Amino acid sequence: MPLPFTSRRAPFYADIPDEKWNDWRWQLSHRLNTVEEIEKVITLTDSERKALNASGLFRVEVTPYFISLIRPEDPNDPIRKQIIPTASEMVSFTSMMEDSLAEDRHSPVPGLVHRYPDRVLMLVTTQCASYCRYCTRSRIVGDPTATFSRNEFEMQIDYIKRTPQVRDVLLSGGDPLVLAPKILEEILTRLREIPHVEIVRIGSRVPVFLPMRVTQELCDMLEKFHPLWLNIHVNHPNEISQELADATNRMAKAGIPLGNQSVLLAGVNDCVHIQRKLVHDLVRIRVRPYYLYQADLVEGGGHFRTAVAKGIEIIEGLRGHTSGYAVPQFIVDAPGGGGKIPLMPNYLLSYSDHKVVVRNYEGYVTTYEEPLDYKPHDPKTCSFCQNKRLEPGQTGITGLLDGDHMFIKPKDFDEVHDRHGIQHRLKDESKWKPLGIGDGTEV
Ligand SMILES: *Cc1c(COP(=O)(O)O)cnc(C)c1O
Repeated sequence: MPLPFTSRRAPFYADIPDEKWNDWRWQLSHRLNTVEEIEKVITLTDSERKALNASGLFRVEVTPYFISLIRPEDPNDPIRKQIIPTASEMVSFTSMMEDSLAEDRHSPVPGLVHRYPDRVLMLVTTQCASYCRYCTRSRIVGDPTATFSRNEFEMQIDYIKRTPQVRDVLLSGGDPLVLAPKILEEILTRLREIPHVEIVRIGSRVPVFLPMRVTQELCDMLEKFHPLWLNIHVNHPNEISQELADATNRMAKAGIPLGNQSVLLAGVNDCVHIQRKLVHDLVRIRVRPYYLYQADLVEGGGHFRTAVAKGIEIIEGLRGHTSGYAVPQFIVDAPGGGGKIPLMPNYLLSYSDHKVVVRNYEGYVTTYEEPLDYKPHDPKTCSFCQNKRLEPGQTGITGLLDGDHMFIKPKDFDEVHDRHGIQHRLKDESKWKPLGIGDGTEV
């Protein structure tokens, strides 16, 4: 048997009866947010004290459960850095933005982000159980007086209803699992009524901040809305307690496939060996590492940023060295709203017309001899090709390969290259119109 996970309670809470400690309502109503409260549990640094006393900083809240996982005397504790502000949050940096992913620009109605062709991000609340200092959505999250209205919810549902290409709805916020169960149930019910919504996903850090919230009743409710997937958010192995393991076990038993999204954070988890322990502990609690994100260019988060190379180094240290199931994808979420871009080490070293040279994680270099008689897939006899459903404006590089178009041009490309010239005898539009791309038509 592998070692069991630990369960911790800060000495300050020693006298709290178990039924209170294990009650999520008690945990939520006893969250800590001031210097006076927090220093009863951990020893604060001057920088933390300064930040906690500053006004205008992103909201602070920590559940008693989560603060108990911090080693109280260690100023570099990886959990503490995620939730206790320091003066570094007040430092600005080049290319810092309020909304670095331009989510609000890609939002057809308030709280709904439609960036990819077939799926939407639906923000259902601005509240969380505790607040991550590097929150990518700190521009809208945390304000206790500003959350999404009934009317905005109806607009979100209406948009999804009239947008049949949306087959996947990702609930986030804020944290959907802090909503009153009845409200969450209504949201899920309304989404399930829409025939083209095939899957629903929830992104939540409640299992990490407040595992006692993942009650059997909650799991019984969620189970009614399958196929339902859920991503949690763990950054460091110290966050994996017996309580979290019990919570993921309840969710897994309710048939919910579980993933993890983590953020690469300087001074928290920017180390191959920490990441290896993290992903091993995650698969032990039946959570599949999904994404590891490069930290966003968000205000207040500058001190958490690493070089992009660190993420590639981490993937190099995982892929092949451990179970494929335990290896997340390293993602840079494109500033300005380009969406998620996976990055990884290069495994393809060279190629000729029928041979590729590849290397493995050990540095073993080999060749793969390609067939000389491969008969290409014939779209004309493939019913899936005939009925392909890709969004016309968003086929991208696969559209180039598929022959939907022959090039992708930056905006104003034609105008720039026209050089304000004249229409002359050699300029004939028909010369640069493709004559049937790759379809074998004789011309
Ligand atoms: C991350 C994200 C998604 C989901 O992306 P997947 O790669 O499918 O997990 C969808 N919409 C938005 C706006 C996102 O940021």
